[in-house]
This record gives sequence, structure tokens and C-alpha cells, in this order.
Amino acid sequence: MSATIIDGKAFAAKVRGQVAEHVARLKADHGVTPGLAVVLVGEDPASQVYVRSKGKQTVEVGMNSYEHKLSPDTPEAELLALIDQLNNDPAVHGILVQLPLPKHLNEDLVINAINPAKDVDGFHISNVGLLATGQKSIVPCTPLGCLMMLREHLGSLAGKNAVVIGRSNIVDKPMAQLLLRDSCTVTIAHSRTKDLPAVVRAAEIVIAAVGRPEMVPGDWIAPGATVIDVGINRIERDGKNVLVGDCDFASCAEIAGAITPVPGGVGPMTIACLLANTVTAACRANGLAEPEGLTA
Ligand code: NAP
Repeated sequence: MSATIIDGKAFAAKVRGQVAEHVARLKADHGVTPGLAVVLVGEDPASQVYVRSKGKQTVEVGMNSYEHKLSPDTPEAELLALIDQLNNDPAVHGILVQLPLPKHLNEDLVINAINPAKDVDGFHISNVGLLATGQKSIVPCTPLGCLMMLREHLGSLAGKNAVVIGRSNIVDKPMAQLLLRDSCTVTIAHSRTKDLPAVVRAAEIVIAAVGRPEMVPGDWIAPGATVIDVGINRIERDGKNVLVGDCDFASCAEIAGAITPVPGGVGPMTIACLLANTVTAACRANGLAEPEGLTA
């Protein structure tokens, strides 16, 4: 293996430390305690794990955590009424509705009911539009974490060829916007892309967010490229359940200059960036200076 391993776990701990310092200053100097409300509808086991972890980390950095657990058959009007209540609660600076929602609920309608200034997932149509037009917005957590790791590892990204594999709204499109904003030349690839291996081989930065275990082999990677593997796939190997990314780690690490592992790469950064977005939202709500280095 020749690639440098980009340690998302350590980086996330550093980001959480910065968030905690800023929260302490907000409390001491301004009497403001940032608050994050997380809404979970239903009993999806993976979502329950994420929500627990978000609540725990929120408290650990000194912020207030408000958890709202609703039954799987909650009517849309009831969920919208809760969002309205949170929108109007001055103690709540960030609102996150855990996705996916049960099928009877309209995800777009629910997300767009959140006050964009409190939309710490960055999925509200206003935040999407602000990001796309290069204006100040709240940036989705997973791509924000990827960008932070790229900047830390590469310094300036200007002029680099980047490929984003996948065109999802939550990861790939905002990722492409952020790379473009940092002056990369960006290609977005997807399931209909012709000759994907050649497209990936032309890239100095590869972001893989496909959801297909180990789809990208090492011989697609340009020597020295930086590989950010967003995929989280649970597979069975040698009779055990293991987590793997969208890249074949062993062969990619032979060729790449740097690579994020799975687990321990992008995953931990996502919650750290949620906390960063919440402290940023709390500063903006109170007309205070935003913490440096915690947003795009
Ligand atoms: P998604 O909405 O299912 O999107 C997957 C994208 O991959 C689609 O745009 C699809 O293209 C593309 N794709 C599928 N097969 C392909 C192929 N053979 N070649 C090229 N592109 C292909 O997935 P997502 O929500 O973005 O998540 C992607 C992965 O990231 C998942 O493993 C997920 O668990 C992980 N994830 C991780 C984090 C984290 O915190 N680390 C956060 C979010 C997601 P089409 O549009 O053409 O179908």
C-alpha cells in the first residue's frame, strides 16, 4: 500500500473540538447555547442508531439536544406542526428530520417546511439554490466533510480534475457544487456514463458515492489521485458482517496518493459537520461572527 490514509475519525475529533471551543465561547460571552432538534419518524434501526449518535455527540460538545420520536404512522399534518413549533422556538438553532421518512410522508414537503436558517442538513430548496449560485448557505454535512478533508490534504483545489461518481441530491450534486466553487474542473458520472473507468482515470480527485460495494477497482484510479470513498455498504464476508465502501480499498490504496478508509473516513465527518452547521446557524441567528474553518 502506498497511499496516505486520510483519517476521518481523527479529523472529526478535531472538528468536534473546534465546535466545543466555540460553543463554550458562545455561552460565556453571549449566554447562547446552540440547540439541535432531531426528529425521527418510525423505527428504522439504522436511523435509530444515527439519531442516538447525533444526540450523544451534540451533548458532548456542550450543545442542547432535543429528540422528537414519532410513531411510524404519524400524519403529515402532525409532523408539519412539530416543524412549525421548532421553527418558532428560539432555543432551537438547527432542525434535522432523519431520512428516509415512511412512505406516506412527502419528503420534499417536509424538508421545505423547515426554516432554511435552521436547516442544518442543507437540503432545503433555498439552501440548495444558494449553494448553486455561490451564496452563503448551509452546506449538506457529508459533502462538507469531504471538502474539509480534501482541503486539509491537498491545500488549494484550484484547477484539479475531479469526478463525482453518483448524482444524488444529498451527496453528489452539492459535492460537485463545492468542488466547482473551489475551482476544480468537475465531472458528474452516473449509471448512464459511458466508459466510467476512463472518466475516473482522468481525475486527480475521485469522490465515490454510489452505494455499490467495492465497485471502483484500483486500475480505474490515476496514480497519485486523492480518493474520497463516501459509500457505506454492509456485506457478508467470511461469515461476518463487514462495512465496505464503494471503492476496493486494497487495490485503490496501491495506486492512489491518498484515500479515505471505510469505516473511519467520511462517516465520522458527517456528524462532526452537523455539529459545525448547528454552531454556525446559532451564530447567524444571533448576529455573531461565525467560527472559522467550520463551513465551506
Ligand atoms: P443514491 O441516492 O442511491 O445515489 C447513488 C448514485 O449512484 C445515483 O446517482 C446512481 O446513478 C449512481 N450509480 C448507481 N450505479 C452506478 C454505476 N454502476 N455507475 C455509476 N453510477 C452509478 O445514493 P446516496 O444516498 O448518494 O448514497 C451513496 C452511498 O453513500 C451509499 O453507500 C450511502 O450509504 C453512502 N452515504 C454515506 C454517507 C456518510 O455519512 N458517509 C452519507 C450519505 C450517503 P443514477 O442516478 O443514474 O441511477
